[in-house]
Amino acid sequence: MATGCQISGCKNDVPPALTEHRLCVLHYTLSLETSCAEMRRETALGNAPQERQREIMKFITEHGERLARVATSGLHLTDDLKARILSTFLTLMNLRENLDRANMRSSFGRSGHLPR
Ligand SMILES: [Zn+2]
Repeated sequence: MATGCQISGCKNDVPPALTEHRLCVLHYTLSLETSCAEMRRETALGNAPQERQREIMKFITEHGERLARVATSGLHLTDDLKARILSTFLTLMNLRENLDRANMRSSFGRSGHLPR
């Protein structure tokens, strides 16, 4: 029995790599984009706690790997979907870069005492 995408009204199949999320490729990339946009806002100010930054870092790696698995698992993806996957990769990479930059800024101002 194939499980359907959890987004109501969506009839797309859920690929094996995404069963845990119960999302089709399209909605998975959309949800990643939304999460990344939120995290980017969170980290843009450079004052996200270290703990949270580690969580975000983990999120990026985990989902980057999962997305790569989805993309290379031999699904029949439309060109649109392929383009979407690539742009989601870019979003993940940019978020990672933002995080590093924010980190760099905060470590310059960290002479002497650690944050919190
Ligand atoms: Zn869907």
